[in-house]
This record gives sequence, C-alpha cells and structure tokens, in this order.
Amino acid sequence: MLPAFGKQNQFSKMYLFQRVSDLQTYLTTERVNNRSVGFVPTMGALHAGHLKLVKRSLAENQITVASIFVNPTQFNDASDLEKYPRTLGKDLEMLAGVGCDVVFLPQVATIYPTDLNTEVTIDFGGLDQVLEGAQRPGHFAGVAQVVNRLLNIVQPHYLYLGQKDYQQQLIIKRLIAVLQLPVKVVVVATERESDGLAMSSRNLLLDPELRPRSVLLQQTLEGAKNRLAAGEPVPEIEKWALEQLTQPDFNPEYFSIVNGENLLPPDPATLPDLVVACTAVWAGKVRLIDNLVLRGSL
Ligand code: AMP
Repeated sequence: MLPAFGKQNQFSKMYLFQRVSDLQTYLTTERVNNRSVGFVPTMGALHAGHLKLVKRSLAENQITVASIFVNPTQFNDASDLEKYPRTLGKDLEMLAGVGCDVVFLPQVATIYPTDLNTEVTIDFGGLDQVLEGAQRPGHFAGVAQVVNRLLNIVQPHYLYLGQKDYQQQLIIKRLIAVLQLPVKVVVVATERESDGLAMSSRNLLLDPELRPRSVLLQQTLEGAKNRLAAGEPVPEIEKWALEQLTQPDFNPEYFSIVNGENLLPPDPATLPDLVVACTAVWAGKVRLIDNLVLRGSL
C-alpha cells in the first residue's frame, strides 16, 4: 500500500510524488526561488549508506529529492529482480527521519512508457566492458537508461552517488559528460557495518551464518592495500586475494586492481595516482561487491 502523495501524508514535512508533472511543478517553483536541488537516486531497501548520501545533499542544497525505483532494465537476471528487497514503509520513515524534502516514487510505466524508446547508446570508452560490465551484460546500459531518465525528470543541480558502486559512478560521470547534462556529481565514501562489511540492500538476503563471514571482502581489500604499499606486484596481490576469497560458501567472481580513472590494469612501472581494488564475490546465493582505494584518493 502506497501512502498518500503530495504533502498530505503521514510524514508531515516530506512530499511524496508519483507523477512527473506533480514533482516538476513543485521543483520548478523551488528553482525559480533559486534553491539548489540535490538528488539521490536509490532502489530502496534503504540503509545508513543511502542516508549518508541524503544527509550530504541536505547539507549542501536547499531541496533534496530521493527517488526509490527498482529499475528492471539493469537486472540481467529476472530472479535477482524478483528477490530484490522491497521495504517501502521503512524507507519512507528513514527518509523522513533525516529530513529528506521530497521522495519520488515513479511507476515502471512512468519511467519506461511502452510507446517511447528511452534507451541511450553511449560510448563509455570501455568502462562498461570490464568488472561488473563483463559479468553482467546489459547492466550498465540499464543504469545509463534509468539515470538519464531520472536526471531529465528531476533536473537536479547536484547528483549524489556512492563510492560503493565505483564503476557505476565513473559510468554515470561519462554519461553526463557525453550528454552534456547540467549536473555535478558528488561521490560519497562507502558506509560500512561496524565489522567492516560494506552496507548494501543485498545484505538483507545474506544467510545469517554467512553474514559475519562476509567481512572477508573488506579484510581482503585491506590486505591488498597493505601488500601494494609494501611493493608487491599487482598480479601477485590479485592471485593472493582470489585465494583468500575462495572459502566454503564463498566464491569470488573477480578481484581486480585497476587504474581508478579508466579501470584498466595499472602500469607496473609507474603506478597511476589512483589505484582501486574492485571485487565481486558470491556469498552463498548473494552476490556482494566492494572496492577500496589502494593508492591516492578520490
Ligand atoms: P542502490 O539503492 O543500491 O541503487 O544505491 C543507491 C545509491 O546509494 C548509489 O549511489 C550507491 O552507490 C549508494 N550506496 C549504496 N550502498 C552504499 C554504501 N554502503 N555507502 C555509500 N553509498 C552507498
């Protein structure tokens, strides 16, 4: 059951919009009054990582819009889409709790009207071919499609993205550059559980026995950072990391140390200024991703 839209809902200060026209009428007035608009797109099942983005936007803008939309086009596996956690009531409480101004809750038919082709074809310069792109065909085309649609609808001044999805933020920056969209990207550091596991909506799906052991990803990333600092060659670190991540019920898809600008293997002779390790690991039936800056800073 969806709550009432507009301002007449149980969250006294937060507007909920489902229709584009209602959202745009509201935002146009705000923009006319010279208020800067920050936007945090999400797929719901919110946690403190999402709220960190919302809080950052609240601190830097007069109006913060969060969206909740489980985007079907970025799932390359139908059962993954089906089992993606949906916790709308709790999400809205969390957003109201931090003082979010507006929540946009579009329907699939609003983002993807059947009579419109909303796909975007962008040359990502190879960014979409590696790591997640290599493992999840079509995933980034779906991400680009939904982010382009949402940016056209919301037209924010600032877009808040998590470092948790390292490759995604690079792809979205490229999308914005290619399409010359008038928005600036702010990347927010990954929020972690107290044991180090990166917060993720998918953590809700983890087998309780595997949840404490999933700290393995962050530990391996930290281990890789120490090894790189000690001068160990990148291929050896990657090999070590894959061995670490191969445990009963844990199965790594990749552990790659890359140039943080272009996601290519770093030149061993002169390491680039920004070196990032990215990994995807199956923990039972749940696919977890994480990353860590090994050298330099974002
Ligand atoms: P999602 O709902 O998973 O699509 O994520 C929405 C936004 O929240 C994306 O920009 C993510 O990168 C960001 N995000 C997800 N998890 C975290 C986290 N643990 N820390 C910071 N940002 C996050």
